[in-house]
Amino acid sequence: MKKIVIVGGVAGGASAATRARRLDESAEIVLIERGPDISFANCGMPYYIGGEITNRDKMLVAKPELLRNRFNIDVRVRTEVTSIDRTAKTVQLHNLLTGKESSESYDYLILSPGASPIRPPLPGVDLPGIHVLRNLGDMDQIRSKLDQGATHATIVGAGFIGLEVAESLTHHGTKVTVVELQSQVLPPLDSELANPIAQELLAHGVELILSDSVARFDSAGSRLKVTLASGKAIETDLVLLGVGVRPDNGLAVQAGLEVGPRGGIKTNSQMQTSDPFIYAVGDAVETFDFVTHEPTQVPLAGPANRQGRIAADNVMGIKSSYRGTQGTAIVRVFSKVAALTGQSEKNLVRAKKPFRKIYVHPAHHAGYYPGAEQMTLKVLFREEDGRVLGAQAVGGAGVDKRIDVLAMAIQAKMTVFDLEEAELCYAPPFGSAKDPVNMAGFVAANLLQGVHPQQLAEKYLAPAEHEEIIVDVRTPKEFDEGHIAGAVNIPVDELRKRLSELDPKRPVTVYCQVGQRGYIATRILLQHGYRVANISGGYKTYGLHLGKM
Ligand code: FAD
Repeated sequence: MKKIVIVGGVAGGASAATRARRLDESAEIVLIERGPDISFANCGMPYYIGGEITNRDKMLVAKPELLRNRFNIDVRVRTEVTSIDRTAKTVQLHNLLTGKESSESYDYLILSPGASPIRPPLPGVDLPGIHVLRNLGDMDQIRSKLDQGATHATIVGAGFIGLEVAESLTHHGTKVTVVELQSQVLPPLDSELANPIAQELLAHGVELILSDSVARFDSAGSRLKVTLASGKAIETDLVLLGVGVRPDNGLAVQAGLEVGPRGGIKTNSQMQTSDPFIYAVGDAVETFDFVTHEPTQVPLAGPANRQGRIAADNVMGIKSSYRGTQGTAIVRVFSKVAALTGQSEKNLVRAKKPFRKIYVHPAHHAGYYPGAEQMTLKVLFREEDGRVLGAQAVGGAGVDKRIDVLAMAIQAKMTVFDLEEAELCYAPPFGSAKDPVNMAGFVAANLLQGVHPQQLAEKYLAPAEHEEIIVDVRTPKEFDEGHIAGAVNIPVDELRKRLSELDPKRPVTVYCQVGQRGYIATRILLQHGYRVANISGGYKTYGLHLGKM
């Protein structure tokens, strides 16, 4: 009979415990959790704070009694594992209620201790009213601050959790300021895709301060004063620190397990640490990126749950392997949604990996059917074989579906030619006969096959002298409403008649609103002997880069 001790009873730990029980009825399984709750809905906390989730009990996805009764798991809450003795194969326990110390032996140990929110070492960071959000206790404190009448909140960090809470607090009626060190919100996204989210925050009255950071916190009567590096001061009732997390690796380090340079516990693809009897999963571990195979740490619930299951499989003798993390993530910010999977452009640039990219801006379902919402979809792929490396989207309805499809395409190592052939659901309320995923495939495949040469909008963001003639093929009205500096206007429907206006010795860059008329213009000009390229995603992509939508 195997004895398994699991440290941490939420996403990864609870998954490992229940999988282990389903595989082996005879195993002794002990689940140890420092906090009062196991298996709670971390991801739901922003929505409880703002009042969208009203029943706190619903945040407890599985209570200890369920794991005890249905799964015969020895659940010990309010108990901390304080050390590991790898030679004796025991863990030391500290009961946080009684203060009692004890020890527990194991055949296999699974660590799922998660990650701690970073508290930057700033003056005043420990003042009351400065919160992090990791567990239900943190959530209750923030919620009670609102119930006591907090009217203004400052969120430090415009990542996924920061923006979810910003949205939620705004719904609740609290005025919100978000401070972000980088020049964009949602740093994992490429900046042009993040710009519409920034606009959405502003449109809902959120004050957004980018490229600035907190220098210090001070008490200001019953409130707090947040002073920024720029000198700006904000009077606020509560602060949420959302500047990232650090793997909770204390136990692992103390036990001499290998950790990576950013602190993640090193694991192999069976989720086994440098000690063959100790497995580790979730936010605490370093795994590898699915696309680049490089080490990575991505604190997301999906990977934590899957890794918990894989660790249990291996402990129970089933050879399961983790395939790597894609970083598939999504966030709703008021009526906008942003999502990504695989590599971003900024990561590929940083890693010096060559790539090509395209943009499309299709409607999420047939344009003639009421309620169609436009999205921007960016796909990154390899030049040599078209393999999809990453995708990002921003829009409203239907963003989740396209990024999920593309996440599977990445997992299956598909190419943009496979996206052309993807047969996806279609009826007018749901999609189009040419789904946005197909459209992205067509545009990318045409690029790689030389059928549709493309240019990047970035080239024209700053006014400059260009060798090429820039031709705006939209209508005069669209042109008058805004165009790229130096462009001439020849609407696509007049192009064949007005070819004489274009010097055949000069290259031509064409563009339209989203890329479609530009594609037709490109085909016309190519077949008349011009060297021509179409701006991918057209004037819309140009506007996204400039933050004007
Ligand atoms: P956790 O779920 O954090 O569990 C670790 C547990 O271990 C903790 O309860 C801790 O008390 C316990 N523990 C630590 N050390 C010890 C010890 N020595 N002894 C005993 N117990 C110990 N991910 C998404 O994919 N989508 C989302 O929308 C999303 N939203 C989120 C929103 C918020 C506000 C937060 C905080 C996280 C969100 N996440 C989201 C991230 C997701 O919750 C985590 O990736 C996931 O919970 C990690 O699982 P884990 O098992 O590694 O750690």
